[in-house]
Amino acid sequence: MIIESQLKQRPFILAAEGVNKSFAGFQAIRDLSFYMDEGELRTVIGPNGAGKTTFLDLITGRTKPDTGTIEFDAKHELSRMNEYEIYRLGIGRKFQTPTVYTDHTVFENLLMSLEGSRGVFASLFSKVNGQQKDRIHDILKTINLSEKAEWKAGALAHGQKQWLEIGMLLAQNARLLLVDEPAAGMTDEETHRTGELLLSLAGKHSIIVIEHDMVFIRQIAAGRKVTVLHQGSVLCEGAVEAVQSNEKVIEVYLGRKHAH
Ligand code: ADP
Ligand code: MG
Repeated sequence: MIIESQLKQRPFILAAEGVNKSFAGFQAIRDLSFYMDEGELRTVIGPNGAGKTTFLDLITGRTKPDTGTIEFDAKHELSRMNEYEIYRLGIGRKFQTPTVYTDHTVFENLLMSLEGSRGVFASLFSKVNGQQKDRIHDILKTINLSEKAEWKAGALAHGQKQWLEIGMLLAQNARLLLVDEPAAGMTDEETHRTGELLLSLAGKHSIIVIEHDMVFIRQIAAGRKVTVLHQGSVLCEGAVEAVQSNEKVIEVYLGRKHAH
């Protein structure tokens, strides 16, 4: 017997429709529509000023759209929620500069981010239970920092801090991870390992990565969909090879030294 839910398509984890956003008369986001399946790892590229970061700001509630809808998990209209409510839904963001507690250990940073922990500092003074410990050790393994658990976060290399921050999103139980230019400032080796980390999280989490490092994009986007933003709208979407050879995309990047 086929039950009704099996006939329905899986809902999008994120569906933005007709989104517009202006800043003092400058239209940063223009009739933007964007759909993403649960578990997708989606790379978003586009020249500097295309609206990529603003798009993330709109998802996290940092800024509100002028018009349009942004639906999460087919249930939650994000444009009607505040930043904290959106965070509580399981939408986590990693900024370009790591925001870890440098004077606390790697372990403590993860502990403070654990879902259900009783506030940032209270969690440091309460006893850590076995379940929390197991969870933190799982995350440490995932982010390749098991050996650095007792290190002060401030002593980590740049790349390791970024992985810790991704680990903090995992500790928060984020279902949708928003990652803005993770490869910036990383060595090639760190960049590659970041790619491996994001690939290992895909499927279990939905992830939007904004990037412009083409080697990195080819690593994480192989066999997946890439979205090109330009002047606040989707210019084109498709496989990384198709996007790279798309005439409109080439035109948009032409004459620019740095394709951000
Ligand atoms: P990208 O991340 O693709 O480089 P942004 O989303 O940062 O682009 O910016 C898109 C455009 O919107 C830019 O021209 C930027 O100057 C403008 N913008 C973004 N945020 C604001 C803001 N808070 N106030 C005014 N202008 C803004
Ligand atoms: Mg940006």
